Amino acid sequence: MLASHDHDILPVLGPPSRPGVWSRLDGLIPASPDTDTSPVSGRDGGPASSWTRSQGRGCARPASEGSLDESPSRLEGFDEVVMTMADGDCAARMLAWYRSGHRALPWRAPLGQAADPYRVWLSEIMLQQTTVAAVIPYFERFTTAWPTVEALARADLDTVLRAWAGLGYYARARNLYACAQEVAGRLGGRFPENEAALRALPGIGVYTAAAIAAIAFGQSATVVDGNVERVVARLFAVTEPLPAAKSRLRALAETLTPRHDCGDFAQAMMDLGATVCVPRRPRCLVCPLAGVCKAAAEGLADALPKRTVKAERPTRRGIVYWLEDAHGAVLLRRRAEKGLLGGMVEVPSTEWIRDESPDCIFLADQAPLPAAWQPLPGVVRHTFTHFHLELTLVAARIPDPGRITGADGFWVPATQLAEHALPSVMRKVIQHALAERAKTKG
Ligand code: SF4
Repeated sequence: MLASHDHDILPVLGPPSRPGVWSRLDGLIPASPDTDTSPVSGRDGGPASSWTRSQGRGCARPASEGSLDESPSRLEGFDEVVMTMADGDCAARMLAWYRSGHRALPWRAPLGQAADPYRVWLSEIMLQQTTVAAVIPYFERFTTAWPTVEALARADLDTVLRAWAGLGYYARARNLYACAQEVAGRLGGRFPENEAALRALPGIGVYTAAAIAAIAFGQSATVVDGNVERVVARLFAVTEPLPAAKSRLRALAETLTPRHDCGDFAQAMMDLGATVCVPRRPRCLVCPLAGVCKAAAEGLADALPKRTVKAERPTRRGIVYWLEDAHGAVLLRRRAEKGLLGGMVEVPSTEWIRDESPDCIFLADQAPLPAAWQPLPGVVRHTFTHFHLELTLVAARIPDPGRITGADGFWVPATQLAEHALPSVMRKVIQHALAERAKTKG
């Protein structure tokens, strides 16, 4: 079954057999009245150092951006293809396709209406490293609880972290909160409109700044994530492997960015990568770019982009100290602000070290206090972006918790553990410990 937008896109036509016929589909796509295919500022001698904004739904961009002259080495070998794409053909195709039935997502504004920068920003932060399906319920909850950036800034950090729990990468949640405070405070509730000012805010990097600038403010920013890299690699048949090809793919993507309707174009590219130009078995027969795609013409689509083989993920190991007081309350502590899971609450543990031996060395000197530690059966496993983690647990009970205060930790009744902003790995630890403790008590 075709995706919702497929019914209205190009007729099913096989990829052309040679570059000379790439443009044969011209005229089959309804031209958008809003689409301006004229060269971007900087190519046509626009102001050299100022931002410009064109009329209507046009986009502003720094006059120095987008010029092929700026990065000849990054585009070497692609000049002929760039000439084909840079005339706005790709943008026209993408905009027509997007307007024929794009994905309805809760953070998107209806066609022709301005997007809410707060909702665009929130969704883009949530979508980093996470799928659209996983983000939707979180986005709905956040915008119900905090409908504006001011409301989010007024919230308690722990409440925000708890609402974030399960989305992973808690540093993002902390940056989200810091950013909300800065926008609501210093910036008077208004997000900046250009990429450079957006990038100065906590948690906003190159990709997110470009996405907000394009979608929320109509800036002619080039939005390049993994999906867009894949589309561009195929469109131009870039055989250089990632990640080395990143800068070349970005330079090529910049040549496609239109001067008008930049938000719709950026979202069209995202949708194409997510629903049509997918990693395996791209659906070239229903792709709006089939007529101009070099990889499809050369039968390379499924093989691109190439990737340098990654080194295997290492395994780190550690010991978790499950400490109960006489009433069954459990000792938790807050991790250091900097680093992995920064500022999150955890069950105390040793450092997580790379250890090739099957059993982790028991590091008594890292225990929160001396006690009759007993091993609990089993191992808790979790995988982070850069390593696998294996945690073994030891447990003890002490009658007098008086020595544990402040920075050392705090006691939480077992029934209230879920109320704290715990990362997924610590939720696994708690589940495992409670199950094992129940066995010994039973
Ligand atoms: Fe090219 Fe096929 Fe991807 Fe479309 S889906 S951009 S035709 S590889």
